[in-house]
Amino acid sequence: MRRTLASLLLISLSGCAYSFTPPVLAPATQPSGAATGAALPVPTTPRPNLDPRVTTTTMASDAPVTILVSIDGFRPDYLDRGVTPRLSALKSGGVSAAMRPSFPSLTFPNHWTLVTGLRPDRSGMVGNTFEDPRRPGQPFAKASDDPFWWSESEPLWATAERAGIRSASMLWPGSNAPWGTVEKGDHGLWMGGIRPQDWQQYNANLSATQRVETVLDWMRRPAATRPRFVTLYFDSIDMAGHDVGPNDPRITQAVGAIDRSIGTLVDGLRTLGIRANLVIVSDHGMAATSSSRSIPLDGLMPKAAFRTTEVGALGAIYPQPGQDAIVAAALLKKHDHMQCWRREAIPARFHYGRNPRVAPYICLADTGWRITPTPPPAPREGGDHGFDPSDPAMRALFIANGPAFQPGRQLPVFDNVDVAPLMRDLLGLPAGNGLDGTDAPFRKVMR
Ligand SMILES: [Zn+2]
Repeated sequence: MRRTLASLLLISLSGCAYSFTPPVLAPATQPSGAATGAALPVPTTPRPNLDPRVTTTTMASDAPVTILVSIDGFRPDYLDRGVTPRLSALKSGGVSAAMRPSFPSLTFPNHWTLVTGLRPDRSGMVGNTFEDPRRPGQPFAKASDDPFWWSESEPLWATAERAGIRSASMLWPGSNAPWGTVEKGDHGLWMGGIRPQDWQQYNANLSATQRVETVLDWMRRPAATRPRFVTLYFDSIDMAGHDVGPNDPRITQAVGAIDRSIGTLVDGLRTLGIRANLVIVSDHGMAATSSSRSIPLDGLMPKAAFRTTEVGALGAIYPQPGQDAIVAAALLKKHDHMQCWRREAIPARFHYGRNPRVAPYICLADTGWRITPTPPPAPREGGDHGFDPSDPAMRALFIANGPAFQPGRQLPVFDNVDVAPLMRDLLGLPAGNGLDGTDAPFRKVMR
């Protein structure tokens, strides 16, 4: 049913999809799957439903299932608010840390980093909204399933599927894109490519309960069709964080609700007798913002001189034709509450700016400030992220619990590029080549 609905959606949306056939991709980076070599042949008939490898899982049927959970915008100190008995129990019974997101500390780049082990500059997912010089005027929009945007790096579920490990995704940015294909059929549907065998088109209205119960339904299947690798995504805490800021009691309520959902998942797995390694992460933290802390770009240069693909904590700015000197003069000077660089001069610690998808000018606001094209129309208090990843307010959640992990181990802060190598270990996949992260932080805390 889900797939049928998704197919219908794709058909109905095909009229507004990109109308030309994209060129064969020359990845900006070596996709990790290609680097894993001959052990993982690229399937010649990669339609997920028709892939004969579904019945040839390489894992023992009693091997623990690996579940990667993202609680978008969950700051680790939300665990100190007294409303997270289930997450706190998983933390004390497993491995935990405050994790440093990658730059920019935005949702799409960091979710893609978590499943590729590459920083956004190399993964190709350089922002929540951005452009590619190969497609001028057609920006990436968050829920796009066009694999053009995703295929610069290989996500874990594609590697897992190619290794015969059945995967399922109850939402994750990019899991709705058929990874690795460029071909569209007559009906506007993507031909080939790899998705998790069970997947769900993004829909913010799906309740946390529906999401958890779907995962538990997958776990009720016979071993032959039960996923061995699952992603599960919650967005309510990030949304509340943007709406009311991280210090509002409504955030605490949202945190408590997600904790109960995590409890439902853990209890359900126990009832079903499913052994699971749970890796619970977030993509970034959250900082309080206010319209009184705005940096309107049109106060620095004429509106006609520039356009933006991203604003907020981060400004991704393109000069209009012939306006580069004006934009450079306006941005490349000292500002009270932001720093700006030409793409080529972004500080090395951000590992950002070599991908052609990065805008020619990048500005980063001080934590709590927001870059806006024009002054905000009305006073507003709220929250945002995208700030310097080294700021503690941007720290992300990491809790790992299950048979693979020792209890009660707290790790020092590590970079979120290290999560994908850990996941590869848990799934029994070969270590990726040329990844930005390693499994080193976890070696002493595994069982
Ligand atoms: Zn967000």
